Amino acid sequence: MYPASFDYHAPTSVDDALRLLGTLGDDAKLLAGGHSLIPLLKLRFARPAHLIDLRRIPGLAGIRADDDQIVIGALTTHRTLERSTLLRGVLPILPEAAERIGDPLVRNAGTIGGSLAHADPGADLPAVMLALGAELRTASPRGGRTIAADDFFIGLLTSALEPDELLTEIRVRRPGPATGGAYAKRPHPASRFALVGAAVVVTLGAGETVSSARVALTGVGERAIRVPAAEGALVGRAPDAATIERAATEAAAGVEPRADLQGDAEYKRHLTRVITQRAIARAVERARG
Ligand SMILES: Cc1cc2nc3c(=O)[nH]c(=O)nc-3n(C[C@H](O)[C@H](O)[C@H](O)COP(=O)(O)OP(=O)(O)OC[C@H]3O[C@@H](n4cnc5c(N)ncnc54)[C@H](O)[C@@H]3O)c2cc1C
Repeated sequence: MYPASFDYHAPTSVDDALRLLGTLGDDAKLLAGGHSLIPLLKLRFARPAHLIDLRRIPGLAGIRADDDQIVIGALTTHRTLERSTLLRGVLPILPEAAERIGDPLVRNAGTIGGSLAHADPGADLPAVMLALGAELRTASPRGGRTIAADDFFIGLLTSALEPDELLTEIRVRRPGPATGGAYAKRPHPASRFALVGAAVVVTLGAGETVSSARVALTGVGERAIRVPAAEGALVGRAPDAATIERAATEAAAGVEPRADLQGDAEYKRHLTRVITQRAIARAVERARG
């Protein structure tokens, strides 16, 4: 299928993009890597009258350190996340997730901002943002705001972004000492989207007990979610095999996966336990240094 016809706009600054968003309103859609939007246009599930291509706007892509934060531009591709030496050193969970996205073509074009805005229930990066406690910065003709990752993913393909809002950057606090994060995933055999993905960040405190934990899942519901019961099973305890197993079991008990061609709900719950266990174990290993 071919998309319905639309007017194409290629602004060269955020201000120009915002002006277009302000005047075109709901008739316009932002385009980043196109790897989620273009298929929707071709299937005519989306029929915007205007496309605003963000890729000519300088400054929206790239990764930098800013005091105690790591700042990732919304137009940064999965490939750039995967190859970033800064991220590999400071936030290895991000390249670990990015390198598992789709295939090289998808990773070369797809962007972190597009992935988060699209809020696909099987996307990898939303879970990583939840585990990292990231902040998402936006701009709009009405001004900008900061949205906590915890408040960003609302439902199936639905984020907290308003139609005239542009995601500009993602900010993640540089992890403190004895903190480790990891992402584990069982990919769909064809698309590579997550059948189950688990993102975990833990901090170890005195006596090597877990002082804080964030456990997030993707693929097993309408949106990426945190699992407080799994986090509670870790905090205050030594992260030995039994504790990790208990937390992973809590994670599996807390989801209602949909049965599909890849397996029934029980199988998906089993996968959730195994994948979460792997992610926690690796996060703990990294926290120990
Ligand atoms: C074959 C295939 C396999 C894939 N496998 C995986 C996988 O394994 N894991 C995974 O996580 N993803 C996977 N994806 C999705 C891929 O990561 C997409 O690139 C991503 O979901 C969307 O990013 P994009 O830059 O292509 O966004 P686009 O397709 O350009 O846009 C997606 C949506 O986000 C909006 N948008 C884009 N940028 C912004 C912004 N800065 N501010 C506000 N709104 C914005 C657009 O308006 C649109 O609604 C796959 C895609 C394909 C085609």
